[in-house]
Amino acid sequence: MIGGTRVYDAHTHIGAARHSGRSYTADDLLRDMDAHGVDRALVIPYPVVEDYRASHDVIGDALLRYADRLTGAACLPAFLTDAARREELRRVVERYGVRVLKFQPQYQPLNPLGREFEGLCAAAAELGLTIVCHTGLGAPFALPSLYIHAARLFPKTAFVLAHCGGPAYFLEAVVAAEVCPNIYLELSSLMPHHVTDVLERVPVSRLMAGSDLPESQRAEMGKIFDAAAGEARAEILWRTPRRVLDGARE
Ligand SMILES: [Zn+2]
Repeated sequence: MIGGTRVYDAHTHIGAARHSGRSYTADDLLRDMDAHGVDRALVIPYPVVEDYRASHDVIGDALLRYADRLTGAACLPAFLTDAARREELRRVVERYGVRVLKFQPQYQPLNPLGREFEGLCAAAAELGLTIVCHTGLGAPFALPSLYIHAARLFPKTAFVLAHCGGPAYFLEAVVAAEVCPNIYLELSSLMPHHVTDVLERVPVSRLMAGSDLPESQRAEMGKIFDAAAGEARAEILWRTPRRVLDGARE
């Protein structure tokens, strides 16, 4: 809790990252969550790993150990066969209760308007997963508007635009959320004045907070705490991610 408000960090990673050299464990994450007043977090594999199944097992082990604190995501290599995709998603849903699929177009170079991405979304939608798409850095495939296509094809699936398009494209993310009721915005990497702009245009029932990197957790959660008050603050920091990522009714 921060100042009496429960806090959900909707964007964290554990494991070992090939692209950045980062390594961060579930225990590291829990220590930082406790230090920063974070009650619950969505934990996502890094997008470039040695072995995606093993990285899912790291996430799964964390979910089993910290079921009351963590929700889990899967992340698949871009060019798996449809059968391999479905098999692995089913495995992590059945074994670990994974609820989210992360798509990172900087490292999974699939055209968001293309058939491969539609197939990935179909596999996730059939299992009832929420799809979190990295947006911002990595344009053009990371442009927020490109996810309108999939959000319309799969209207019952929630699409979360991670980083809300970033400082360069956050207004485009606002438009995407305006035209698609199943598009949600996760506000990490925006400056505080960008968050204020988003809050003027998008209902708090469609917004959530994330940190992405451990050294940003205190600042990212604090940014939202400062930008919103009362019910709006509680909605962004807790209720929206609980509904969208965990299916909770509270
Ligand atoms: Zn991330």
